[in-house]
Amino acid sequence: MTQITSTMPIATPSPAPPSPASAPAESKSKSINAILEHVFGSLPTLAVLVILGGLAFWGHHTGWTVPKFSSIVGATEAKPDDWCESHGVPDSQCVECNKSCMAPVKDYGWCREHRVHQCAWHHPDIAQLDNPRQPTQEDFERAKQALALTARPLNNSRCQNYQRRLQFATADAVEKAGIDVMPALRGPIVESVAASGQLAYDTTRVLHVASRAAGTIWRVERQIGDRVRPGDVLALVDSAEAGKAKSDLLQAIAGLELTQLTLARKQSAASGIPGRELQEAKAAVREAQVRLKAVQHVLANLGIVVNPVELAKLPEDELNVRIYFLGLPAEIVRTLDPQQTTGNLVPIRSTIEGVVTNRDVVPGEVVDTAKELFVVTDARQMWLTLDVRAEDARTIQLGQTVRFRPDGGGDEVVGKITWLNPAIDEKTRTLKVRATVDNSAETLRAFMFGTGRIVLRTESNAVVVPNEAVQTEGCCRVVFVRDKNFLKDGALKVFHVREVQVGAQDEANTELIAGVLPGEIVATKGSGVLRSQLLKNNLGAG
Ligand SMILES: [Zn+2]
Ligand SMILES: [Zn+2]
Ligand SMILES: [Zn+2]
Repeated sequence: MTQITSTMPIATPSPAPPSPASAPAESKSKSINAILEHVFGSLPTLAVLVILGGLAFWGHHTGWTVPKFSSIVGATEAKPDDWCESHGVPDSQCVECNKSCMAPVKDYGWCREHRVHQCAWHHPDIAQLDNPRQPTQEDFERAKQALALTARPLNNSRCQNYQRRLQFATADAVEKAGIDVMPALRGPIVESVAASGQLAYDTTRVLHVASRAAGTIWRVERQIGDRVRPGDVLALVDSAEAGKAKSDLLQAIAGLELTQLTLARKQSAASGIPGRELQEAKAAVREAQVRLKAVQHVLANLGIVVNPVELAKLPEDELNVRIYFLGLPAEIVRTLDPQQTTGNLVPIRSTIEGVVTNRDVVPGEVVDTAKELFVVTDARQMWLTLDVRAEDARTIQLGQTVRFRPDGGGDEVVGKITWLNPAIDEKTRTLKVRATVDNSAETLRAFMFGTGRIVLRTESNAVVVPNEAVQTEGCCRVVFVRDKNFLKDGALKVFHVREVQVGAQDEANTELIAGVLPGEIVATKGSGVLRSQLLKNNLGAG
């Protein structure tokens, strides 16, 4: 029986009259059956089956089908009298064909400031609200700044679609079309520019360490990956230069002591001593002081800081031991046997907190002061280099907050822009921007890739709608605002086409800089159905 059933009218997706929709089709197929029964009723059942089978086989090969009932009986298709085909509602209620059904909203035309027709911000009376509230000065200021910040999608000032209204026969039909609604809300939104980025060490926090004295590496204290603090010893160098400076120091301390004693003795016997001798003794003290200072300088250049006043107070044997291992921290001295250890050792130290990221030295190696032996990196703060598209470049400023998420998951980290390249890269057409990001949790690694978002503005009280509420009808961004009387008994089920100026957008919401007042009900899920209806009607009208 496939040939016969295929002649039944196929349901079309266009809005159908509400209740009688399926009734005529059903009754039509019933009457076809009745005719067939009448024609074939008198024949034996087997013969009927044979004829029908033959008809089906022949029809299958020639494309012939049983003619429509209406063409058989010569009647016109049954259709409700009161039905507007273009708008899918009863003719008598069609607000688009018959403006008296629902007076159009007063037409305020184009708002140059907010770049929309029917600006609800300047004319709250057009809002689909019972008691529309005038936007505040703060709202106008926010809109002004948002529009000045960056290029926004422009609506067409000549477009007439804002006058359009889309109507449903019943509230049920709205639901069947899959249209959900939600009020436009006050809410927070962040406007940001996305850019891909790569992490690197902050070069102001990378320490390249060489020995301060030429010599032979005596022992290596730290390996790659070790954590160090300022002052920690990385290696010990056996340096003849250091040995000489230490013995010079001993001599200078002794020399000063001697000249001071001589001067004191001469001063106490002042009456019998010629003035010239006293002057000579004083000069000798000054000379010894200068010599000591010079030795102090040499040692300081080797990284050894000494306090001669304190040293001079020590008993002689203790002084010798102290100077033997001068400059080495106590915990290292404890590990050294003075009998088998040279007195020429100088430490190589880190001056920052960080991790040893490179070590290019082994014990016994002869080094000079030019060779880099260690790299210590403080990765608690890193550099993020972002490639910002040239068209976004004018919105980027020093000090803006950057949120960065490494590829492959991981927590978002936050930083601030600290450097902008003065030029756009010729090849990539991007602006290189550097941000310093916090890595105190030490989850970031150098050379990681990821996506950064540069925050342009953070609004706490913007007007937002779900992203799916905003549609483009070809030249303008629009939302579909439900008529304020929609829920009232017997009210016409109408959505108004409303131009909007869109602003920031995040994963869930779009900011409406202007166009809709908070509280107005907009179509969200299924708003595409309304868009299709709008475009279809435009096509019909053209
Ligand atoms: Zn109509
Ligand atoms: Zn306006
Ligand atoms: Zn338009």
